[in-house]
Amino acid sequence: MPIIKKIKKNLTNQALIKESNLKTLFRLISERGSITRSELAELTDLSPTTVSSLIDELIQSGIVVCTGTSDSKSIGRKPSMLEINAKGAYIAAFGWGRKGLKYFLYDLKYNVVEHLTIPVVNSDNFTQTIYDTIINKTFRKINKRRLLALCISIPALIDSSNQVINSSVLGLRENENIVKELAELLTSIPIIIGNESVFFTYAENEFGGAKSAENLIYINISEGVGAGIMLNGSIYKGSSGMASEFGHMTIDIHGPECACGNRGCLECYLSIPAIINKYSQYAQSMGMLPAESIDEIAIAFSNNDAAAVATIHDVADILSYGICNVLYLLDIDKVIIGGSIRKLGQPFLDEVRRCMQTRAVGNSFGNNLIKRCAIYFSTLDNNASCLGAAKYFIDNIMKLSIEMEHRLFIY
Ligand SMILES: [Zn+2]
Repeated sequence: MPIIKKIKKNLTNQALIKESNLKTLFRLISERGSITRSELAELTDLSPTTVSSLIDELIQSGIVVCTGTSDSKSIGRKPSMLEINAKGAYIAAFGWGRKGLKYFLYDLKYNVVEHLTIPVVNSDNFTQTIYDTIINKTFRKINKRRLLALCISIPALIDSSNQVINSSVLGLRENENIVKELAELLTSIPIIIGNESVFFTYAENEFGGAKSAENLIYINISEGVGAGIMLNGSIYKGSSGMASEFGHMTIDIHGPECACGNRGCLECYLSIPAIINKYSQYAQSMGMLPAESIDEIAIAFSNNDAAAVATIHDVADILSYGICNVLYLLDIDKVIIGGSIRKLGQPFLDEVRRCMQTRAVGNSFGNNLIKRCAIYFSTLDNNASCLGAAKYFIDNIMKLSIEMEHRLFIY
C-alpha cells in the first residue's frame, strides 16, 4: 500500500511540474510573438530535450505552430520559429450590462473573431440569451472542442465564497441565482464569472498604460462606480472576493441613501446619473436647461459653462477624497480612471489632482503620497473587461495537460 501511494504522489507531482512547464513555454511564446526552441531553453533553464518534447505536445494539441525559419546567421540548419496558433482555440466572453449583453469571441492571440451587441429586454432572459448565443453563434463559427471557456464580466458585488451576485445596476430578482442557472445550462464548458472592474484592472495591467504595475487602483465610473485593486502585482480580491468596492465607501454618514442600503456612498455622488442630476440642479438654479447625458455636460464644461464648472468641481472634490483615502490606506502609485467619465477630458483629471493637493497642504506625509501617485485615464475601450476576462482565464485558470478540478470559477 505505501509503495503504491508514493508512486501516485510522484506521478501527481510530475504532472504538476509538466503542466507548469507547459504554461511557462506557452506564456513565453505568447509574450515574444515568435521564438525558437533554443531561446526557450535558455530563458527557462529547461534542457533542450525537455523543451522539444513539451513543444511537440503543444504543436500536437494545435495551439502552437512552426512558422518558417529563424534569420540567425548560425551555420547549419536554421532553427524553426514557434508561434501561438491563433486559430488553435477560442474564448467566448460576455459583458453583462443593464440593457443587454456584449459578446466577443477571441482567438488565442486575442483577436476579435466575432462581436455582437445583444439587447435583452426581459431581465429574466440573460442566462438563456448567453446559452442561445453559445449554441447558435459560437458553435456555428468554431468547432465545439476548440472553445476553452465562457467568461462573463458583471457589474456586481460578487461573494465568491457563497457564489452570490448582487447588483443594483442589473436589477436581479431576489434569490435569483444566475451562477446556478448558467452551470445547469452549460454543462461542459468552464465558466468564469467575475466583477467587471476586476477584469478591467487585469486588462489595464496586461494591455493598457499600467502594464506590469505593482500597486494600482482602477476606478470605473459609469452607470455605477466600481474598482479593482492590484497589490504587489496581483489582483487583490479579499477573503470572499468582494474587496475594492470603492463606490460603496461612505463619504458622508448623513448623505443620501445608496442602492446598497448604506448612506452617502461615493457612488451616490460620482456615478454618471448622479453627475447628470447634480448638473441639472445647478443649471436649473441658474435658469439653464438640465442635461440628459454626460456628453452634454462634457461640451458645456469645455465651453466653461458655469453650471458645468461648478458640477465638475464638486465631482472632482469628492473623487479626490475617495482617492486620498485609498492612498492613505494602501500607498499605491497609480490611479487609473475608466468608464464614461473619461468624456470630461484631461481638465477634469487636472481638477481632481488640484483638489487632492489641497487635501495635503501642510501635511508632508500626504504630500509625498500624492506627489508619487500618477493619475490618468485608461486608454482601453469600454469592452476591455471582456478582454481582461479572457486573458485572466488563459493566464490563471487554463490547464494544458491536466484536468481542471472545477468547472465554475467565480471572482
Ligand atoms: Zn452604497
